[in-house]
This record gives sequence, C-alpha cells and structure tokens, in this order.
Amino acid sequence: MSKVDETVQDLYDEVVARNPGEAEFHQAVREVFDSLGPVVARHPHYADAGIIERLCEPERQIIFRVPWVDDAGRVRINRGFRVEFNSALGPYKGGLRFHPSVYLGVVKFLGFEQIFKNALTGLPIGGGKGGSDFDPKGRSDGEIMRFCQSFMTELYRHLGEHTDVPAGDIGVGGREIGYLFGQYKRITNRYESGVLTGKGLSWGGSQVRTEATGYGVAFFIREMLRARGTDFDGRRVVVSGSGNVALYAIEKVHQLGGRVIACSDSAGYVVDEEGIDLDLLKQIKGVERGRVSDYAALRVGAARFVSSGSIWDVPTEIAIPCATQNELTEADADRLVGNGCAIVAEGANMPATREAIKTFAKSTVAFAPGKAANAGGVATSALEMQQNASRDSWSFEYTETRLADIMRGIHENCLRTADEYGSPGDYALGANIAGFTHVADAMLALGVI
Ligand code: NDP
Repeated sequence: MSKVDETVQDLYDEVVARNPGEAEFHQAVREVFDSLGPVVARHPHYADAGIIERLCEPERQIIFRVPWVDDAGRVRINRGFRVEFNSALGPYKGGLRFHPSVYLGVVKFLGFEQIFKNALTGLPIGGGKGGSDFDPKGRSDGEIMRFCQSFMTELYRHLGEHTDVPAGDIGVGGREIGYLFGQYKRITNRYESGVLTGKGLSWGGSQVRTEATGYGVAFFIREMLRARGTDFDGRRVVVSGSGNVALYAIEKVHQLGGRVIACSDSAGYVVDEEGIDLDLLKQIKGVERGRVSDYAALRVGAARFVSSGSIWDVPTEIAIPCATQNELTEADADRLVGNGCAIVAEGANMPATREAIKTFAKSTVAFAPGKAANAGGVATSALEMQQNASRDSWSFEYTETRLADIMRGIHENCLRTADEYGSPGDYALGANIAGFTHVADAMLALGVI
C-alpha cells in the first residue's frame, strides 16, 4: 500500500470507529475516499489541514422526539433528525425523508453525499439532510398534517433562509412541504419563503422544481450520449422506482426520444414493451397513491407485473435507478453488463452498491454517480431560493434552460476533472474530486472552524 493509500485507509478506519453501526454512512464515505488518493498525493495540504476529518464530522446533529395523535386518538412517537453537515459554501441544503428505515446512519450518508453534490452545482449551498422514521404509507391527510406540524414545532428553531433550508425526499412531496411551511410561518410569524424549497407554485415555489431531479438525470444522460456521439433516439431505458424522481425521469427520457419499458415500486416491477404510458402511471402513483401492479392490471395484454426478482433482469441500454440506496447489487450489475447495458446513471442517492460500481468500472459501462446525475433537484431548489430572495418568479422555459445548463456544466466538470487526474471517462472519480476540491478550498479559506 502506498503512503497516500495508507493515509486514506487510516482516515476511513477512524470514521468507522467514531460512527459505529452506521453502515450507509461508512459506505458513502468509502465511495468518496476511493477517489481521494490522487488529490491527497497532488495536494497534501488538504490532509495536513485536517480537511478530510472535518468533512466527515457534521457541524451539528439534531435528534428530537416527534409526538402526534393518530385518527384513532392514539399517541404516536417518532424520531426526527436534521444533520447540518457542512456550511462552507452556503446555508445547509438538503431534503427531508419520511420512511421507516430512517435512522442516524441513513441521514448522515445522505447529508455527506449532499455536500459534494451541492458543491458540484456551483451554487452557494452547503450540505445537510433530515427526516424521520415516520411511515406516511396508509396515513390520512389529517395524520400527515399533524405529524408535519409536530415535526416542524421542534425543527423550526434550527432553520432559516441563511441557516438551513430543507426540501423533500422520499415520502416528502408538495403536500408535506405545505404543512411544514404552514407551521413554520405560524410559529415564527414570518412569511420566510426561502426557508423551504419544493413549495407550491402559488406560494413561493419555482417552476420545474417538481420535475427537476428526474429531468436533470435525463439531461445528464443526454450529455453522456453526446460525449459518445449519439443520442436517446429509440433507445430502451429502464427506470426503477415510480416516485417523484422516476416519474419525471421517464417524462424527459420520452421527450428526448428514448423509450422507458419498465419501472417499479417496493412490491415489484412492471414491463411495458410499448413504452410506459406516463399519464396512466402518474394518475395511479401521483393522484390515487396506488401501486405499479395497478398499472399492469389496467394495461392488460400490453404490460406485465413481476413481483419477484429484480427490475435489472430486464435487458436495457440505459439503466436509471431512481428508488433507494443499495437497490442495484453486484449480481444486478453483472446482469446489466451481460445484457449489453451502456449507461447507468443514478437518479436515487447511492442506489448502486460499492461492488456494483466496481463491476461497472471493470466493464465498458459508463457509470454516473447520483451526486452528479441527480443534482438537478437541489440545483433547482437553489434557483427557487434565488427567486424567493428577489421576490421574483421565472417562467418554466427559462428555469428549465437554467437546469439543462447546470447539468451540462456538471457533466463537463466531471469529465474535465477525471481527465486532469488521469482517469478519462471516470464520472465517479471526476464528481468526487471536483466536489471535494470546491468545498475543501472554501474550508481552507474560512480557517479552522
Ligand atoms: P418518492 O417517495 O417520491 O419515491 C420513492 C420511490 O422509490 C417509490 O416508487 C418507492 O416505492 C420506491 N422505494 C422506496 N423505498 C424502496 C425500497 N426499500 N425498495 C424498493 N423501492 C423503494 O421519493 P423520490 O422519488 O423523491 O426519491 C427517490 C430517490 O431519489 C431517493 O434515493 C432520494 O434520496 C433521491 N433523490 C430525490 C430528490 C428529489 O428531489 N426528490 C433529489 C435527489 C435525489 P414504494 O411506493 O413502494 O415505497
């Protein structure tokens, strides 16, 4: 092992020892550290100034009780989290996730990723993330509202447009952001639009924010295809998930000429060789809050539902995992490579395991990590903050053009950085190093704080 590799390994061992039992956080740190060797070798001052250790230690971690009353009158208790990871580039920025799997290790992995993703956008935003182990599935509107109000009754004191600005993530969409913003406004007596993003269009939200993560992934893939001298035209695409990111990734892929033939939820996946009928899927998932199995039931003869196995069994040229972390394993990666997949771009955060990423690296598959490919959501959140700060409201077309430009910029930055560090075409390395150096330089300038 070289001296540099030893340094990076020692730093990683220390992170694991200081944060026991947080497997997802360890994985996210490992994934970034896998790329840091060449930077530490070229710029030892980052390691000498303790930048890497400081990056791995959140500036602040908040854990709180969230009591609420269900429709039957029973008192329920959940746990709320906000990890304010790094504010060297701007106020903490990152979503809230409501899902029973949420614990400190998940919030920290998401917050850690967010630092580099936000740096890559080139916009003035730091990294943070939050959420709760609350399960919104099957809950009434009234229950969701009471939960959100209780959650915000504690969280509000830590937020502010110059301090910490949450948004949505799994289980937190426009409805939840509305209830959270309403409670913030009530407690503080301030119409502080810039304190949350993902708001409704009539009360401070931005055009394209709802679509931004999914659209952004499709724009990023368009750049990857362009770099190979080709485009989406007629290509088979598989998108996992059927939530916010997945729906709008499907929409933009279709608009750009690709054909999405499969999508999923946690109960299974659906294959429709004619191409997913997005209006039908939106109605089922977005309006009725139903399942993808309902889609197959309504498209008899055209679509089939598969409740076992993996969506990555479906042969495809382009794979876009948009569901959740570690949904794409080494075995899935082997199958994708075997079936001739050319591009994998992460719409979700850390959907590919470390082993899957290694498999892609050994093959001809171009792999785009989430911190680059799904940065369109947070970038458009930053555009929402800009509009709130100037009390302005931009058109859909203008905002979408800004998003497409940002995604093009991130793509270029990843490739340029990968070239500079001797690994042409390695998007993961390019994203990690470009994000790291941007935030590290700001941390150096701000002193030991
Ligand atoms: P949604 O809640 O809107 O959708 C999540 C989708 O993933 C649903 O189809 C859900 O299925 C599926 N899913 C969730 N957990 C599992 C699981 N354990 N196994 C299989 N499927 C699962 O969330 P988003 O679309 O907002 O987020 C999806 C991913 O994208 C997350 O990783 C998130 O962190 C990331 N992301 C989101 C951004 C945003 O702007 N929303 C920005 C950047 C990244 P089911 O309904 O059955 O649970």
